[in-house]
Amino acid sequence: MIDPVLPTYNRIDLVFERGEGAWLFTKDGKRYLDFTAGIAVNVLGHAHPHLVAALTEQAGKLWHLSNLFRIEGGERLARRLTDATFADTMFFTNSGAEALECAIKMARKYHSANGQPERYRIITFEGAFHGRTLATIAAGGNPKYLEGFGPAMPGFDQVPFGDLAAVKAAIGPETGAILIEPVQGEGGVRGASWPFLRELRALADEHGLLLVLDEVQCGVGRTGKLFAHEWAGITPDIMAVAKGIGGGFPVGACLATAEAAKGMTAGTHGSTYGGNPLAMAVANAVLDVVLEDGFLERVRDTALRLRQRLAELKDRHPAIIAEVRGEGLLLGLRTLVPNGELIAAMRAEGMLAPAAADNVVRLLPPLNIGEAEIDGAFERIDAACAKLEAALKPEAVKGAAA
Ligand SMILES: *Cc1c(COP(=O)(O)O)cnc(C)c1O
Repeated sequence: MIDPVLPTYNRIDLVFERGEGAWLFTKDGKRYLDFTAGIAVNVLGHAHPHLVAALTEQAGKLWHLSNLFRIEGGERLARRLTDATFADTMFFTNSGAEALECAIKMARKYHSANGQPERYRIITFEGAFHGRTLATIAAGGNPKYLEGFGPAMPGFDQVPFGDLAAVKAAIGPETGAILIEPVQGEGGVRGASWPFLRELRALADEHGLLLVLDEVQCGVGRTGKLFAHEWAGITPDIMAVAKGIGGGFPVGACLATAEAAKGMTAGTHGSTYGGNPLAMAVANAVLDVVLEDGFLERVRDTALRLRQRLAELKDRHPAIIAEVRGEGLLLGLRTLVPNGELIAAMRAEGMLAPAAADNVVRLLPPLNIGEAEIDGAFERIDAACAKLEAALKPEAVKGAAA
């Protein structure tokens, strides 16, 4: 008998009733420190008063219109995001995968509009994650996600992450774009080096390719800059955003330069819900906070302090934690035990975190956590590691410490 909810997820058997900041509460009042944050979505934590106010105020006025009419909230959000980024224009979506779909279509259309429709191929990277639609599973190239769904959509050439020579070798007469996550999230919290991103930018310019960034997970302040590519000192031609931009309300966006977007004229793309008034009210409220003076600076300080504590944990538990990696508050612990074991042990201590590839435990707290949450995380991970160590054979613990 199949579950009435399509069983594509192995869900954790916890039911939460409410959330407050970085904390989640079950019905029976048990409290969890939430470093999943809806997979890097709840950038301001749960039930942030400014977001609650924006949503409830809009809910009493107007929910949905369709894009047959002007939507002032969307016009305002677009103006603010163009002011704050490289972009001249953007398309609003309801998810990350849809933002990537728009980015892929736009890249193809750009070359078509330039009279080179044959340049539809996009270079992507091993370990990438771009979503679960047919185009984005083809772009991501993960065989687990492609298996059984028929022929993969053509047009993607995958090369090893960080391998410039492989990118160069993959460029052919049909190549139109390069698509990369500045920091791979699902792929194991693996950062592209900033020099590598600069090399890709130069390569794209040299060959007339579009540089497309997927900042669905690493964007919106997560790395301590509004967008991760700012660390590299480059700008993309097209960028997909989602997750954090809605703070928990489903919102995505595909941002672009005027040049890259030139093929996307009236009628070429659409979405019934994308950018609806409720979504735009919340996304504007997220920006109110993230763009506040000092917010991103505080994220960088918080990230530094959390990272120091994690390094301490690695020193204390060398048989469990092999490496601390990531940028800003997109952090990962590569573990020597199966990552799921540490995640379960942390949950038993009252802390939630998601897994990533490469045997990594991801730590994705809300961006506005304070000292109490950093201490709380340290204590819970420390206790979880101690329990796992106690279960290990004594030689393993000694061997790792030596
Ligand atoms: C989550 C994610 C996506 C897909 O977003 P959805 O909202 O799940 O469709 C795409 N790219 C990256 C980097 C992501 O982390």
